[in-house]
Amino acid sequence: MSLKSILNADLHCHSVVSDGTLTPEALAERAKTNGVELWALTDHDEIGGQHRAAAAAKAQGMHYLTGTEISVTFAGVTVHIVGLGFDADDAGMQQGLQNTRSGRGQRAHEMAEGLAKVGIKGAYEGALKFVGNPALISRTHFARFLVESGVCRDTSEVFRKYLTEGKPGYVPHRWASLRDAVTWITQAKGVAVIAHPGRYKFTPNEEYALFTEFKAHGGQAVEVVTGSHTPQEYVKYAETAKEFGLAASRGSDFHSPDESHTDLGTLPYLPGELTPVWELLADRIQ
Ligand code: AMP
Ligand code: MN
Ligand code: MN
Ligand code: MN
Repeated sequence: MSLKSILNADLHCHSVVSDGTLTPEALAERAKTNGVELWALTDHDEIGGQHRAAAAAKAQGMHYLTGTEISVTFAGVTVHIVGLGFDADDAGMQQGLQNTRSGRGQRAHEMAEGLAKVGIKGAYEGALKFVGNPALISRTHFARFLVESGVCRDTSEVFRKYLTEGKPGYVPHRWASLRDAVTWITQAKGVAVIAHPGRYKFTPNEEYALFTEFKAHGGQAVEVVTGSHTPQEYVKYAETAKEFGLAASRGSDFHSPDESHTDLGTLPYLPGELTPVWELLADRIQ
């Protein structure tokens, strides 16, 4: 396989192992149907789906990189760091992710208490019905319950009205540190990637600090073309990648056929002048 010939890589999506609605096998089939040549499943804070995803990619005749999306607290804000091409059996990575996941149960109970105060009862049990992996109960599962019970029309309305800072179901949470997340990934032979930087709404100074510290810890790539960016942000973060000497990644962030506006493998290709992250991972591709 020539790495140079790969254009349709999709290196960011979620399965029922975190907050997606499809199994790893169904995602692999969908990716293949949409023309994806190189795929990674990147469940939040969890690598329990990696062996299934790699096997499903192989069955579909697609190349595969291991993946995860780690929740990090940086400057008081939740930032996501994608890991690609790491050893899925690495003990340090597994322990770090387990620690990151561990607060989710308590947080979910507190979210339900906040929602109960504004008259939405039974949200914990309701969210649990949508959960594929109890260790990974997330805001997305609460959002699905609030849509099902008719409180909101769609999940973005739920986030806007109930699940973001200052809203009744929002509970501040301390995730992993940037240093730890990048270190777990790189020590497991993977590459760390800043996920969808356009989503954080940092000031230029804060964003500069994020990229500088990320690089200092050993981070090597940034998502440029993602379902979370506008076309203007593709251009902006292509410039940022060059400025910081980072490779570029591409991923839909697909969660569900009913909720996601960007399907697997359908985004524009990476700008030609950037180094695709998979060129750093040639010997990690399965
Ligand atoms: P959590 O890790 O529990 O805080 O949940 C974060 C997840 O919520 C993200 O990975 C997205 O899947 C989802 N999410 C965050 N913001 C929004 C939004 N505005 N609309 C829809 N989904 C969102
Ligand atoms: Mn998600
Ligand atoms: Mn994310
Ligand atoms: Mn994601």
